[in-house]
Amino acid sequence: MSPLLPKLSLLLAAALPASALAAPAAAESQPTVVLAGRLIAEPGEPSLGPHTLVIRDQRLSRIEPGLDAGIEPGARVLDLSQATVLPGLIDLHVHLAIDTNADTTTNASGPRLALATASYARRLLRAGVTTVRDTGDNSGVTYAVRDAIDGGLLEGPRILAAGRIISRTGGHGAKRAEPDQVPYPPAACDGPESCRRAVRQNIEDGADWIKITVSGSGRESGGRPDAAPILFEDEVVGAVSAARQADRPVAAHAHSTAAINLALRSGVRTIEHGTYFDQESVALFKRQHAYLVPTAFVARYVESKLGTFAGGRDGQSVDDLRAWTQAAKAGPGRAWRAGVPLALGTDGGPSFAPTATALEVQYYVDSGVPLPEAVRAATSGNADALDLGKELGRLRVGYRADLIAVDGDPQRDASQLLRMRMVMRQGRLVCLDDCVEAAAGSPAP
Ligand SMILES: [Zn+2]
Repeated sequence: MSPLLPKLSLLLAAALPASALAAPAAAESQPTVVLAGRLIAEPGEPSLGPHTLVIRDQRLSRIEPGLDAGIEPGARVLDLSQATVLPGLIDLHVHLAIDTNADTTTNASGPRLALATASYARRLLRAGVTTVRDTGDNSGVTYAVRDAIDGGLLEGPRILAAGRIISRTGGHGAKRAEPDQVPYPPAACDGPESCRRAVRQNIEDGADWIKITVSGSGRESGGRPDAAPILFEDEVVGAVSAARQADRPVAAHAHSTAAINLALRSGVRTIEHGTYFDQESVALFKRQHAYLVPTAFVARYVESKLGTFAGGRDGQSVDDLRAWTQAAKAGPGRAWRAGVPLALGTDGGPSFAPTATALEVQYYVDSGVPLPEAVRAATSGNADALDLGKELGRLRVGYRADLIAVDGDPQRDASQLLRMRMVMRQGRLVCLDDCVEAAAGSPAP
C-alpha cells in the first residue's frame, strides 16, 4: 500500500461530519488477527504462552492457544509473536481538563483548554490507557472531548466523566475560580437538598459518575488524619442517594479517617486517595464492596515540590505535608495487606507525562503490592470498580477489544508498561510512532 493512502484517508475523514466517520459495515466485519507471543488474559494470573486472538466488530471473537490457529483470508494480521498482549490500562482518577501548570498558552481560555485536553487524551491512549474516569472538571470541556471521542472525531481513551466536583461552598474542588482561571459555576452542596440538586444538575449535564469531596485537600489542614469531614452526614447521604436514584456511582475524595468512614457508610463506590484509612475503614470497604484509589503518583509529585505546596491559606507546614506524602505513598501496600479492594488512579492531567498510569503500577510495587496484583488493579480491578468488569479489563471472548502489547512480561517487570508496542481500542489500531505501518498491518496470505 502506498504510504500516502492512509494519510489521505485521514485528511478526508477530517473534512467529514461525525456520522460519516462510522466505518462501513464491510470494513467493520473484516477481522483482525493478533499473534501474541505471550498473553495476559486474566491480569494477576500467570502470563500464558503464545495465543491467537481474533477481533471482529470491535470485540474479541476468538482466543486460541498457539500461533497457527488458522487465519481466515482477508484478515489483517498483527504479528506480536515477540511481545506480550494484555488488556489496555485503565486510570480511575484523572483530570483531563485541569492543567496545574496553566499559563496563557495552555488553559487560559476555554478553547485553549479544550485543545490541551484533546491533545492529552490522545497522548494517554498512545501510552496504552484505553479507559479513564475523569474525577472532576468544572469547565465542561471533558464532556465535549468524551463525546468527540465517542463520535470518532478525536482519538483518545473511553472517558467516564464526573463533571463538576461537588463540594460545600468553598470546599475542596469547588472553590471560586481565581481571576486568571476559566470561570465555572460552582456545584455547591450546602444542605441535603442542594446536594441532591447539584448531583441532578451534573447528571443533566452528562455526568457518568458523581465526584464529591468529603475532606479537604491533602495540602490543607482539612486533609490531616484527624480532620473532621467538610460535609455533614446528611449532605453526603443526599448526594449519594440522588446519584443512586439515577444509577450513577459516587467517587469520594477523602483523606482523613472520619471523612473516609463517613463516605463509605454512605454508600460511595470508590474512595479517592484514602490516605488515613483505619481498621473500621477496612471492614467498611469489604462490607460495602467499595474500592480504594490511593493515587501514589500525585503524592510523589507533591513530595517533589514540598516548598511550593506547603503553607498558603489553610495550608500545611512542610513537615506535615511531608508526613502526608509518606502516608499516601505507603497507601497501596497497606491497603493490599489489609485486603482492601484495590483500584488504581493517578490524579494525572495535561501537566504530567501520559506514562503516569504505568508509573503508578511501579509505585504500588514500591509500597509492597506484588506486581501481578498491581497490574490487576490497573486493568480488571479498575474495570470491576467501574462495574464494567464484564466488558473491559480482561481478554475474553465477547469483551471489547481494548488491548496493548509490550516487549517483555509486565507481570515480572513493570517498566515494560512504559513503552507500548501496540495499542488497540475497541478493535481500532492506534498510531504509535510509525502510523503508516501500524495502520496498514500486513495482509493475510
Ligand atoms: Zn483528583
